[in-house]
Amino acid sequence: MYAVAEVIDEDCVAHKGCRLCIMYCPEANTILFDAEKKVAKVIEPSCKGCELCVVVCSAAKHNAIRLVHR
Ligand code: SF4
Ligand code: SF4
Repeated sequence: MYAVAEVIDEDCVAHKGCRLCIMYCPEANTILFDAEKKVAKVIEPSCKGCELCVVVCSAAKHNAIRLVHR
């Protein structure tokens, strides 16, 4: 099993300009802004499960991203 980040679309406030997870993710091109759905989107194969995105999203009280186990 391994951990990857998953965005909870209903809670993501990327449509209001939030890009915290995208800015803080240390892996290149791993969280992108989905312009169609207006939410952040994790590219799972690139995600290392480091949890940094979860920490910054929670610190901002959005709680819109979590780690899931595959
Ligand atoms: S930090 Fe949270 S609320 Fe902001 S874009 Fe990422 S998932 Fe969405
Ligand atoms: S868990 Fe780490 S590698 Fe994966 S999307 Fe979040 S910040 Fe990026």
